[in-house]
Amino acid sequence: MKPLAIMYHDIVEEGNLAASGFSGAGADIYKLDRRDFAKHLEALRAVGNTELRLTFDDGGVSAYTVVAGMLEQFGWRGYFFITTDRIGQPGFLSPQQIRELNERGHKIGSHSCSHPARMSHVPWEKLLSEWELSTGRLAAIVGRPVKLASVPGGYYTRRVAEAAAQSGIETLFTSEPTARVRVVNGCQVLGRYVIRRGMGPEWPAGLAAGKLLPRFRQALLWKIKSAAKGAGGDLYLRTREAILKKV
Ligand SMILES: [Zn+2]
Repeated sequence: MKPLAIMYHDIVEEGNLAASGFSGAGADIYKLDRRDFAKHLEALRAVGNTELRLTFDDGGVSAYTVVAGMLEQFGWRGYFFITTDRIGQPGFLSPQQIRELNERGHKIGSHSCSHPARMSHVPWEKLLSEWELSTGRLAAIVGRPVKLASVPGGYYTRRVAEAAAQSGIETLFTSEPTARVRVVNGCQVLGRYVIRRGMGPEWPAGLAAGKLLPRFRQALLWKIKSAAKGAGGDLYLRTREAILKKV
């Protein structure tokens, strides 16, 4: 089967959305309950795609308290992308937890320092420092170079990858729902399929099995979202917040 990456965020107990990661409606839509995530893992095991990468954004503490142990029960390891300015804050991983995840065989990567609202709009120097300082901080914690990263908020442009490449990042995950691999100045750029709260196990299983319908549905939604982001910019963010507050 073809390599494929799936993007999760926090996994929480029984709807306790504030327990891990960023707070607010925009973050909550990506948080799954442990019970539902367990069903996802069972469904993924049944598919048996050994090329599957399970990634977890933001650096919420659930990576350590919930996710890692669940993955290990299946003999799997996760990709954890950490917002380094948040390290040690309530709801986020501590340096010791990050170190232990690394020692247990999980992959540790950067999710920028500050999780800018729009990474693609950040000036070049700031973009470079977001990647350089975050990978440097993580490298100091795990004791070896960190060459993995994911783009915060899905705001990817080629420039974001160029800055990543210049900062020594060799593999960069985006939020674009694609299995296609690109290379930008030596940095491998990989898409991911997102999982939101409320998506049943048929979603990751269907994606991992290479079924086209869930892929097409995500690709279509992505196109609509990208158009809104491009045309609206701030308006997109405000509208998104406004819509999320109503549900
Ligand atoms: Zn994020």
